[in-house]
Amino acid sequence: MKKLIIANWKCNPASLKEAQNMLVGLKAGLKNNKAELVVCPPFVYLTEANKILKGIGGVVKIGAQNCFWETAGAYTGEISPLMLKDLGVKYVILGHSERVTTIGETNEMTAKKVKAVLNTGLTPIVCIGETLQEREQAEAFGVIEKELKESTKGIHKKEIEKIIFAYEPLWAISTNQGLICSSDDALTMALYLKKLIGEIYGRKTGQAIKILYGGNINKKNAKNYLENEAISGLLVGGASLNIKEFLSIVKSV
Ligand code: PEP
Repeated sequence: MKKLIIANWKCNPASLKEAQNMLVGLKAGLKNNKAELVVCPPFVYLTEANKILKGIGGVVKIGAQNCFWETAGAYTGEISPLMLKDLGVKYVILGHSERVTTIGETNEMTAKKVKAVLNTGLTPIVCIGETLQEREQAEAFGVIEKELKESTKGIHKKEIEKIIFAYEPLWAISTNQGLICSSDDALTMALYLKKLIGEIYGRKTGQAIKILYGGNINKKNAKNYLENEAISGLLVGGASLNIKEFLSIVKSV
């Protein structure tokens, strides 16, 4: 199975021109690529991303960083999964910790979004992870379980198989606290998520589910996380903004 490498540009770059340069650079640098690639720029650059990357035969898919749970209506400021689908988007990141901590999103909101994204025929990438305090207080496993169960509430077996999960410990994201999650710790959590999913939906489903790792990935450490089969790929934030660095990460697959 090909490894999946996802670029999360977060709220960057500041101009369309810069986004175009990044997309053109990415397109030009992809030779003998062995990974499945997804680029998630901000909403306003999605059309341009699709236009620029379409030319290379679907090698790079387009993802969004969030969406709303309704299809259309009186929801000022929201973007629906149906609108994203119309732009050529295939994946949507949901429940990212930055939306939880900065915007105040809850697991219940994520669950509604997951359902809406699946109903639209797009693939949700659901982020799950604990804070440093939770880890230090030996609560990480309980927190992960709660988050998984709440953000996939009401999801059937056929649907869960379509979801991609990303284990993203909050303490390792964007080097906020200067901490690195070891590949062993990432693997432990990936296996734990598979076990939990297996208990609910059956062992085979748990084994087959894709779990990515995300948190301070760079060209030097990417390979360590990808070595184990239980980690299906990477969600790359900060390092994906430097196209040269991102291409090196892709090459490490
Ligand atoms: C992310 O945004 O999901 C992420 C993992 O960020 P970073 O790579 O910057 O830690």
